[in-house]
This record gives sequence, structure tokens and C-alpha cells, in this order.
Amino acid sequence: MSTISINTLVRENILKLKPYISFRDHNEFNTPTFLDANESPFGEWNRYPDSTQKKLKNSLAELKTLSPRQIAIGNGSDELIDLIIKIFCEPKKDAILMMNPSFAMYGFYATINENRVLQLNLDENFEIVKDDFLKIVQQEAIKVFFLCSPNNPTGNSTEDIEFYLQNFNGIVVVDEAYIEFSGKKSSLELLGQYPNLIVLQTFSKAWGIAGARVGVAYASEEIIQLVNTVKAPYNVNALSQELILKALENENQLKENVRDIITEREWLQDQFNNIECITRVFPTDANFFLIKLKDIENVYTQMLEQEILTSRRDPAIPGCIRINIGNRLENEKLINLLKNI
Ligand code: PMP
Repeated sequence: MSTISINTLVRENILKLKPYISFRDHNEFNTPTFLDANESPFGEWNRYPDSTQKKLKNSLAELKTLSPRQIAIGNGSDELIDLIIKIFCEPKKDAILMMNPSFAMYGFYATINENRVLQLNLDENFEIVKDDFLKIVQQEAIKVFFLCSPNNPTGNSTEDIEFYLQNFNGIVVVDEAYIEFSGKKSSLELLGQYPNLIVLQTFSKAWGIAGARVGVAYASEEIIQLVNTVKAPYNVNALSQELILKALENENQLKENVRDIITEREWLQDQFNNIECITRVFPTDANFFLIKLKDIENVYTQMLEQEILTSRRDPAIPGCIRINIGNRLENEKLINLLKNI
């Protein structure tokens, strides 16, 4: 059990604030006449969305066996990354720590918020060197550590998450955007033990609803109350809330989609073994592969000519591209092209 006091980590100006909740969302009404928010009385989508996302949180709480008060919803997990930095990192003073390489948005939002970005360089297998971690977290300015598992763009998962929670006196954000593809245990089960843990998940990947822009933060009630305090009141639009509620009614669809992607992942893995222009395929727990090529310039150009878009990662990761797993037709197109190079 960790004894970190969250209040001491929060920026002073934010500690003083309370969440903005509209009168309407704060109370229960049976047959209300809404004349309070300067909306139009016409049309189907004329009302502002529920600023507390009550139905969505209740549904997620049931799915994850947590309290709705341990759940914050964002306009994608991107927004939640920004809000977490805003809560804990004083501009021009504090820093975030992120793995290198990892998801660029942690650095993007930290920089916009005028916070420093410290990099924890991964080893040749893209794993964290624990001694390096212990050394770097001595720096008091580091308030938040973004631990992405499975990591984007490397694809591998981090074992022993509790080590990082136990050896850092700040907030550990475990970004589980790709967890459904990994077959690994979620860190959600650690929430009760670690008040400094925030778990991020998203509807953009395994759920297949990136267009709706909905991400979720799970944490202690104390941290969730802070997220609710700094978020824009109507940060998740009404259409998206409805769409996600509907998707949550059918978790089997998610499971089916994940199964299909994993089948494709195995098929691609096999195919990659027989391809000349590939030097190395890194092990992946996600819905993408990081691949090292003999001649990235040539391969990337040929893919572009055939309108196959991939994510080029060099020079940051020399010779590497990240390839998203598509459907069989798309994957076959990719393999046919690579075989002919
Ligand atoms: N975290 C990771 C690791 C990601 O790769 C992504 C999207 N590429 C996100 C978060 C953002 O997801 P969302 O669509 O929920 O903003």
C-alpha cells in the first residue's frame, strides 16, 4: 500500500477549484422545461450533452467493477493526457517523464503546457532499465511518469508495473490504449493499492470507434474529482456519448474484433518471416508491428506509390516503420508488395 498524498502533488491554483457542474446535471427532474442554457427548442440534438457523462460512467463502472466516481471521460485519451499534466505540473517548473521511444503526445502536451520533458531511454529490446528509472526519478521536478504498455510504437508490454508505482513519489499514468490486444492483465486491479496510479484506456483502438473521440481515465476518486475540475464542462459530445453507450451493450463485438486482429497478427508474423527486405520484426502485443528494413527509403517510397500508408519512425528509430494491422485484403496487399521488393 502506497502512502503518497495526492494533494501535495497538485498545483496550488487547481486545489482551490471545484468542478463546474450545470444545475441541470446536478439535479434529477421528471418532466423538465429547459429554459436555462440558451439552447434552441427545435431539433433532435438541440440540448447540451450531460457534462457528467452519468450513463456512460455507470455502464463502464459495471463493466470494470469500479465506482463511477473512479472514472473520468475525455475527448479521446489525448485530452486526458493534457488534463493530467495541467493538474500536476506547474508551468516552467515541473517535468514529465516518458519512455523513449513512446507515444509522442505526452511530450506534445507537456511542451504546450510549458513543462519539461525528460526521456527514459529504453534498452535494445525496448525495455525499461530499472536502474535508469531509479536514478532519473530522483529529480523532484518530475510529477508524472507516462508508462505506455503495450508501448507505442514498439509494441511490447512492460512487466512489473508495481515496481514503478512503488519507486516513484509522483503520478504513474499507465496508458493501456492497446491492452485488449495483449492478453495481459490490466493495471486496473492495482487501483485500490496505489493512490498515485491513473490507468488510461480508449475506444479508439480495439473498440474501433476512433471517430467518436472517447477516452477513459480510471483512478482514485480524489484524482477523478481533479480531472472533473479542470475539464471543459461539455468535453464529450452527445452523439459520441450515445454511440459509446450502444457499443458497451455489445462487448462480444469487441471480443470478436480483437480475435480477428490477433488472427491477422499471427498471419502477418508468418508472412514477414519470408520477406527479403525485412531485417527484424519486433515482438508485439498490440495491433501494429515495428519493423526494421534493409532499405527503408526504397520500401517506404514503393509503399507510397501504391498508396499504402505506414508510419515511418526513422531517424528516431533507425530503419524502422510502424505498420498497423489491417483486414486480410489490406494485409495481403502489403505482403504482396513487400515480397516483390
Ligand atoms: N495513447 C496511445 C499509446 C496511443 O497510441 C494513442 C493513439 N494513437 C492514444 C493514447 C490516443 O488515443 P485517443 O484516440 O483516445 O485520443
